[in-house]
Amino acid sequence: MSTFLELGLKEPINKALTDLGYEKPTVIQEKAIPQIISSTDDLKAFAQTGTGKTAAFSLPILQLLDTNSSNVQAIILSPTRELAVQIGNNIKDFCKYLPDVRVTTVYGGSSMEDQIRSLKRGSQIVVGTPGRTVDLIKRRALKLGNVQWLVLDEADEMLNMGFKEELDKVLEATPETKQTLLFSATFPREVEAIARNYMTKPVEITSGQKNQGADSVSHEYYSVTERTRYPALKRIADLNPDIYAIIFCRTRRETQEVADNLIKDGYSADSLHGDLSQAQRDSVMGKFRKKSIQILVATDVAARGLDVTELTHVLNHKLPDQIENYTHRSGRTGRAGNTGISIVLVNGKEKGKLRQIEKIIQKKFVETKVPTGKEIVQNQLMNLIDKVQKTEVNESEISEFLPSIYEKLKDLDREELIQKFVSLEFNTMLAYYENSKDLNDLSSKDNSRARTVNENMTRFFINIGRKDNLNPAKLIGLINDQNIGDKIEIGAIDILDTFSFFEIDKDFEDKTLEAFSSNQPDFDGRSVNIEVTKKERSGGGRRGAKKPFGKKDGGGFGRRRGSEGSSSRSSDSGRGRSDKRSSDRPERSERGSSGEKRPSGGFGRKRRDS
Ligand code: AMP
Repeated sequence: MSTFLELGLKEPINKALTDLGYEKPTVIQEKAIPQIISSTDDLKAFAQTGTGKTAAFSLPILQLLDTNSSNVQAIILSPTRELAVQIGNNIKDFCKYLPDVRVTTVYGGSSMEDQIRSLKRGSQIVVGTPGRTVDLIKRRALKLGNVQWLVLDEADEMLNMGFKEELDKVLEATPETKQTLLFSATFPREVEAIARNYMTKPVEITSGQKNQGADSVSHEYYSVTERTRYPALKRIADLNPDIYAIIFCRTRRETQEVADNLIKDGYSADSLHGDLSQAQRDSVMGKFRKKSIQILVATDVAARGLDVTELTHVLNHKLPDQIENYTHRSGRTGRAGNTGISIVLVNGKEKGKLRQIEKIIQKKFVETKVPTGKEIVQNQLMNLIDKVQKTEVNESEISEFLPSIYEKLKDLDREELIQKFVSLEFNTMLAYYENSKDLNDLSSKDNSRARTVNENMTRFFINIGRKDNLNPAKLIGLINDQNIGDKIEIGAIDILDTFSFFEIDKDFEDKTLEAFSSNQPDFDGRSVNIEVTKKERSGGGRRGAKKPFGKKDGGGFGRRRGSEGSSSRSSDSGRGRSDKRSSDRPERSERGSSGEKRPSGGFGRKRRDS
């Protein structure tokens, strides 16, 4: 393995790479850098995203660039504005110690005037999206007559996105003598046609695997309890208004519930799991790829076929049963040279799994606090202001309306105007988070309450749970129906998926057991039985005592519709019990039942098996 100096790069470039933490070249860099430095032949490189290809084409250009000239010498085309910005920023990092190199990045949706001004100052390297590049050529703001290098990055994506015409126009504007460097992850017919028509006997190189050394994903965890899990999820989404994420769930049922709740609460979300038909899945995936939806809630299996490179976040609503799957989940972000964040929501009991995952990923999870309402509002406000700053004003379109608008607003001064526009956009958000609680406090209170045992109460296990449509009100009704005694005190109620717990005044322990035993009640067609849990909430001993006790369905937080914690469970209705049970198992691929592990451990599973 060579060093960057051995590949022919000069010391100022090497120094910048050292600053960036690039210790040695990647495969594609090792092949492309000396080739481009030593030869003017065209180059066709098979390189997937994340292989270090940006440096592979830009470092040799920086090496050879004539900094005494301010002509555009290199034009780099990339399919998306995000990638163009990324490439532009990377190149600026690479020329940290080359003060005479100037780089301009041009793309749509941003001020054309600023870009023209920057070009006029004289940039030797221009990075652009095809559309904006052509616009600037037409306006004669971008002159490509002296170009020595034309880079087509992610050529297949550019053609996929329908930029064939623009590519042709840019190619026509460059001189015959230039060197064309084409980078593509795939070589379909259209890309081959570009290579054939516009390149002369190109040298071909291929890259290795994705650069494992790139530290593109950071791993964070948030401490939650069952009642703060969903509100925490929403706050994370609210803190990141431009979020583009997959939320991973263990089961179809969990997936559907989370998606339904997010949709109900006004998020741009949809679900992807095995209960959907192929046509439904295709439609959801299509919408997500086009970014018509920002958040996809999915099971591991269903998300397998989805290839999206620009995710900002991967959220683990619950950790996968097989912890190895965490790597597959988190690896879906931080691709294509982007950075990404993989977030895990864990309750006290799940925290142990984090240590095991850290061993596999060889990275530490960073504990992160659930954002407060104030932090979210502040972040969203700044985001809005940034967008206002960057908004391009189309004067010709709005000029005819402006006089009457100016007239109507003439009595407001600048401050009042700003306040009104911001309030227009923000009053709902402000009202929503007004007096919002700190979820971190709630989580720790839940946890400490979970450890407290009320000595005056007996804790019972009951063999029905949420999947049987049990809720606290129905459980209280069921207890009252047994005529145990007048005004008996019912304490904490924990409704879990397939079973539950409730507390009753210790003095009524025997009567409660007798009443359930002699009445033999049923609930929704299911025969009910109860048992006294011996070592309540202390861990060890009986099976019931092993469950997480942070959960309390009776509280007001998760129940007020439209409030921050709203999380209805409407998706259950109308389904038979067997459906619900299978939807609640980790989703497996259609044919894999024999080799696949069932949900590990857990009380619910043991009960089903016995
Ligand atoms: P790219 O394929 O150019 O988008 O690069 C993918 C990621 O790898 C980016 O985060 C780069 O900063 C990083 N990278 C590129 N080359 C190297 C290198 N030689 N050593 C370490 N990281 C690199």
